[in-house]
Amino acid sequence: MSRKPLISGNWKMHLNHFEALKLVQELSYAVTVDDVEEVDISLHPPFTDIRTVQTVCESDRLPFHVGAQHCHFEAKGAFTGEVAPSMLAKLNVSYVIVGHSERREVFGETDEMVNAKVKAILANEMIPIMCCGETLDEREAGGAEEKVAGQVKAGLAGVSAEQVGALVIAYEPIWAIGTGKTASAEDAQDMCAFVRSTVSEAFGADAASSVRIQYGGSVKPTNAHELLTQSDIDGALVGGASLEAESFSRIVQYRLSE
Ligand code: PEP
Repeated sequence: MSRKPLISGNWKMHLNHFEALKLVQELSYAVTVDDVEEVDISLHPPFTDIRTVQTVCESDRLPFHVGAQHCHFEAKGAFTGEVAPSMLAKLNVSYVIVGHSERREVFGETDEMVNAKVKAILANEMIPIMCCGETLDEREAGGAEEKVAGQVKAGLAGVSAEQVGALVIAYEPIWAIGTGKTASAEDAQDMCAFVRSTVSEAFGADAASSVRIQYGGSVKPTNAHELLTQSDIDGALVGGASLEAESFSRIVQYRLSE
């Protein structure tokens, strides 16, 4: 089964809406029609930028999917500071990152919360990009697979096999995020293959063959080709290198570099 790679730019808490507009415009010049035939591209700005990014993408017919970095799982209510999935859907957001390690570590998101968010995102007809990954201590203690399998199973509990086949899982070793350290292409491939086998065990072979599995963790133009040509890696979740049009577009164009 051929899976169209998804390259996602997670802008984290960077860029105000003027800066966001500038970056989207620069990206629109750097990314070609051929690129978007080969890969899907999603942009995940801070909440305050989403309307701006949506408006420019729609009015200029730019080939970027609008994304979000996070949402709450409840539909509405007294949750000061939170944003409901339906509010994102109304902005034509297509992809929502859920369970990023920074949300888990800094904001205390649990597997149960991640699972509730995955279901709420799906119920609002958006696609979750559900993150999983181990710490350096867990990897060194030989516990990477156990940690990741636990996150995948708990995060997707109660989701149908058909829905799992249509969503995105981002494998992001925590020690590689924002550190400049990247998993070797072999380790990244092994872990993404392991995520796929976990999906197969829990949801069946069809879901496993169609679910897209991204690698994330210091992806750069110089390592994108090696990582993204691995058989079980279906794209990348990119943090730092997504903040500049030059580096992000070169990652999108990983096919052209060796
Ligand atoms: C991320 O934000 O998910 C990420 C992988 O960041 P970076 O590319 O900067 O490591």
